[in-house]
Formats: sequence, C-alpha cells, structure tokens
Amino acid sequence: MARYTGPVCKLCRREGEKLFLKGARCLSPKCAVERRNYPAGQHGKNMQFRRGRASDYALQLREKQKVRRIYGILERQFRRYFRDALRRPGLTGANLLSLLESRLDNVIFRMGFAESRTQARQLVQHGHFNVNGRRTNIPSCIIYPGDQIEVRQGSRKRVYFKQLKDVLSDRSLVGWLERDVNNLSGQMVRSPERGDIEMTINEQLVVEYYSR
Ligand code: SF4
Repeated sequence: MARYTGPVCKLCRREGEKLFLKGARCLSPKCAVERRNYPAGQHGKNMQFRRGRASDYALQLREKQKVRRIYGILERQFRRYFRDALRRPGLTGANLLSLLESRLDNVIFRMGFAESRTQARQLVQHGHFNVNGRRTNIPSCIIYPGDQIEVRQGSRKRVYFKQLKDVLSDRSLVGWLERDVNNLSGQMVRSPERGDIEMTINEQLVVEYYSR
C-alpha cells in the first residue's frame, strides 16, 4: 500500500500541532513545531493571521487529515477504515480509532519496539515480526485480542534488536497490550478503546466529514 514519503514535519506544521511522527526528535527543541509553528511555504506565515473563524467543513477536514497523518494512511485506505467502522456496532468514531490502533504497525509502535509508527512500518515491511508464529510483513494487518507478536529469531541477532532490550524499560506500555522484554514479544490482551487513546482527537469531526 502506498504511503506519504515527503517531509513529515511539514504535516505537523500544517495542522499546527505536534503529531509525533519522528520519535525522539519530537520531544527535543529541534521539533519544527517548536521552532516555526506556522504552515510551511511562502505564504505559511500569513495563513496564521489571514482567516477569521474556520468553517465547519474546514474543521472537519483538518481533523480528518490530522488523524490520517498520525497513522500514516492515505485517503483511500482511510475511507475504507471509516466504512468498516460504520458497519461495526457502537460509535463510529470510536470504532474508527480502535481499528487504526489495531493495525500491526501501530501495535509494534505501542509495544515500544519502534520509536515511531513510520519506523514500525518499516520494521514490519522488512519482515522482522511473527504474528501468531507466522512471518507477517503487512503493516495494515489487524491484530485481535489474544494475538501474539514476537521479533523473529533471525532478526534478534541484529544490532537494533540487541540494543532494543535496554531501551524498552524506558518506554511506557498501554493497558491493552502486554510485553515480554526479555523475549522481545507481546500480546494484545483486549481491543483498544476510546479511553485508551490519549491523543487529542475529535473523532466526531471525522465522522461528520464523511457523513456530508
Ligand atoms: Fe512533528 Fe515530530 Fe517533526 Fe515535531 S519533530 S514537527 S512533532 S514530526
């Protein structure tokens, strides 16, 4: 599946907030939002001051773009997730976020095996993980409660994974996942719920955007 390959800090600057797309750099003073909190480009600075109150449509669009960018998903696939969320029982917005959180690349990131979702995606694509004992290199693969994820035996010899054990203890773990640091493995214990997602997302605006 295609993905955005341009400069990611531009995306945060466009949304006017940190989307944490780059790992450690996002927490450092080098973060582009800390240094230049206005959209990139020749007219970026003026955009801050030019408009008055944003329209409802603009708010919905920006929220949808923000969520899409946080999870690194292109429009067509994101729309598919929305349709899927719509078919599930319960609140569509919460279903959508739960689906996005259940993607394999996000689960790898949440387990602390990668610094960012982008890095997690690359590690998955390079085939470093087994899901329920089978090599899986599809970042969009949906993980279900009870699924076991582990770094493949062959990959454990790599410097990255050897060093990972030392940093894992510093990386917090969300309540819906379990992790075995020594074994470089983990499990989803339950589906992620809206309350588990700490990011400031107004999913209702995304639902409104697609319900126009
Ligand atoms: Fe966004 Fe991280 Fe770049 Fe800051 S450093 S602008 S949070 S991607």
